[in-house]
Amino acid sequence: MVERKSTQAELEQAARRHLWLPFTQMREVEEDPPLIIAEAQGCYLRDLQGREYLDGVSSLWVTIHGHRKQAIDLAVLDQIQKAAHTTLLGLAHPPAILLAEKLAALAPPGLTRVFYSDDGSTAVEVALKMAFQYWQQSASGGATRSKTRFVAFRHAYHGDTLGAVSVGGIDLFHRLYRPLTFEAFRAEAPYCYRCPLGKTYPACGIACLGSLEEILSQHHGEIAAVIIEPLVQAAAGMITAPPGFLKGVRDLCNRHQVLLIVDEVATGFGRTGKLFACEHEGVTPNLMAVAKGLTGGYLPLAATLTTEEIYRAFLGEHREAKTFFHGHSYTGNPLACAAALANLRVFEEERTLESLQEKIDYLRQMLEEFRKLRHVGDIRQCGFIVGIELVRDRETREPYPWEERIGGRVCREAFHHGLFLRPLGDVIVLMPPLGIRPHELTRLIDIAYRAIQKVTEGIPCPSLPDRQAGGRRG
Ligand SMILES: *Cc1c(COP(=O)(O)O)cnc(C)c1O
Repeated sequence: MVERKSTQAELEQAARRHLWLPFTQMREVEEDPPLIIAEAQGCYLRDLQGREYLDGVSSLWVTIHGHRKQAIDLAVLDQIQKAAHTTLLGLAHPPAILLAEKLAALAPPGLTRVFYSDDGSTAVEVALKMAFQYWQQSASGGATRSKTRFVAFRHAYHGDTLGAVSVGGIDLFHRLYRPLTFEAFRAEAPYCYRCPLGKTYPACGIACLGSLEEILSQHHGEIAAVIIEPLVQAAAGMITAPPGFLKGVRDLCNRHQVLLIVDEVATGFGRTGKLFACEHEGVTPNLMAVAKGLTGGYLPLAATLTTEEIYRAFLGEHREAKTFFHGHSYTGNPLACAAALANLRVFEEERTLESLQEKIDYLRQMLEEFRKLRHVGDIRQCGFIVGIELVRDRETREPYPWEERIGGRVCREAFHHGLFLRPLGDVIVLMPPLGIRPHELTRLIDIAYRAIQKVTEGIPCPSLPDRQAGGRRG
């Protein structure tokens, strides 16, 4: 059967009529249909007309080495000739087995068991349910049954399913759904910039640990686990935690016999400069959720890693019903596992993390320039994760009114110059694929700088040399 080739107008029409996009006010899409991406290669996205855009946010934080990475393409093609999908409910297949082995080898020591799911949210759901069930079934009998609650940090984001929303702390996304969710304890976040305690870093970090300590010392008997985004609260606006914070959280959990769930969905697979953010502080969590970068940005796949100790609490006779009753139809999909294995092989073969260090330093140097811009209130960087916060007044740190959509306008401007960005409110996010080349990184920074300058200071943005489709890449 030959696919009907649709024109751009037809596709836009159909998009207006039938698409419902995530985190998007659809009235605006009805008036102004979305850009339609037909192809992607390396760090570039290409639309139907062949115009190219640098992918400045790794297609929402997932792409690792770049688009159409040959080794991953081939791994998926190879697997598709064997089987596109077979279930893990009662069966196994080589890619799932080999990937579990590989992840256990690469993860912080002690995380030996790998449970698959499909995306970051489900990996978090799995971690929450495992932590809960662990205490219900752990060897000490009934003594730990009361450990049923969770501690989450203010401004946290762990995904959009209801368990993940329960431990989420971003009002704009989560408040409406509160009647549907369970209540979690809220610890103060490592929020260095606009600290709710009115303190600045590093005093803030210490105060925040104090908030967690208070909760744990009073309520540890009812708490199953603490959940944290390590080093960076991503969706909150790339809020970086002070050094030692994660380690401090680990120590407090140990002291109060509470499990630690680390959500590495955004930070995993090299974004922070190490394979996992936990490595920066030598922390092993009891449970770790990974997703976004796991397949290099190819296919939806997630995993929740845990220890033998937790795993063993689920072993028992059939009649005891200690089984972990959880699994999705596509859990551990072979194509996705094959992509993930290839993704991890590229890390080794191309020494991705080694060459990344230089790029991280280069990025840091170039970001210094942004401090000259009048409306840049803060620049936060953790490896290849960057948040540039725009403010109306730098002295008072007065934010722009929400209605002004300053972040959105900057991204729109960048877009006209060939750079795709998606902001978090007034925070401009830069999260390029790790495989970006230095000259592409320069271009990305250049466009972002000019776009901020144009929108916030009204300084016209001289057009940059165009990068036409089919132009030389490299
Ligand atoms: C994106 C994200 C999630 C949710 O992942 P999805 O794949 O979008 O469900 C969870 N936690 C963190 C830290 C994230 O950044």
